[in-house]
Amino acid sequence: MEKLKIAIQKTGRLSEKSLQLLDECGIKVSNGDRKLKTEARNFPMEVLFLRDDDIPQYVEKGVADIGILGENEVWEKEKEVDEIEKLGFGNCRLSLAIPKDEVYTNLDYFHGKRIATSYPKILKKYFGVKGIDVKIEELGGSVEIATGIGLADGIFDIVSTGSTLIMNGLKEVEAIIKSEAVLIANRNLKGVKQQLLDRFLFRIRAFKRGLGSKYIVMNAPNSSIPKICSILPGMKSPSILPLAEEGWSSIHSVVQEDQFWDVIDALKDVDAQGILVMNIEKMIL
Ligand code: ATP
Ligand code: MG
Repeated sequence: MEKLKIAIQKTGRLSEKSLQLLDECGIKVSNGDRKLKTEARNFPMEVLFLRDDDIPQYVEKGVADIGILGENEVWEKEKEVDEIEKLGFGNCRLSLAIPKDEVYTNLDYFHGKRIATSYPKILKKYFGVKGIDVKIEELGGSVEIATGIGLADGIFDIVSTGSTLIMNGLKEVEAIIKSEAVLIANRNLKGVKQQLLDRFLFRIRAFKRGLGSKYIVMNAPNSSIPKICSILPGMKSPSILPLAEEGWSSIHSVVQEDQFWDVIDALKDVDAQGILVMNIEKMIL
């Protein structure tokens, strides 16, 4: 039987989250013995464990059908692959940083400067558009030490909290672009493979929706129901169930996480009581 081959990072910041995502999608993978590839137990999927730098190439060539990696690597590698879904983890930004005692004015500061990076293509494009001439020093890793050892005047690298920069006596002066983990796919998937990808995507989306939503339940006097209904967004409309106590009801609804506290505040003002909030594991529309 045909299988969908997915490439994920072997070891690194995205490995655990990638396996977790598969698990949330009901796809059970064990890689206790750290093999290069392994088969999922209950979904026609084969998992390849690779360095993230290599994933775009493997997916372009069809060695893997799909892959999970940071957008930063997708942009840098410029391979012929489709970015099909943002995954909501591995969030970071690509930033320019310089030694902390330097006085920074604006982007022109970088004119004629040497910048060390593992993302030369992204950087070259960026300064090309701005019309600023810089000298790019390409490094495979440990970019943050490049200014300290005199290789460069500044760096262009991944930042999430900024603590690595501070530890190396640097300051972030420009955040250029934001990145997160994405699912990429080969451009020529057909037939069974495309169907398997659609099934996998359906599960990913149900999980992502669930993450962004809360299930809430509350009690209220019947007289408050119209007001409560006007506050609750819900999937369709809230469910309203009579309580044993005459004149009272239990109201159930789904609220988006980003509206959550505003909704709770509004509900308290209209006599909602005993509000329960629950995580939603999956949400299928
Ligand atoms: P590999 O050995 O697979 O090449 P790597 O050293 O290139 O690994 P990691 O440091 O594990 O990569 O990071 C993988 C991805 O995680 C990055 O490309 C980026 O998309 C994302 N990421 C999120 N936050 C950070 C961070 N603070 N530092 C580095 N990468 C981060
Ligand atoms: Mg890498």
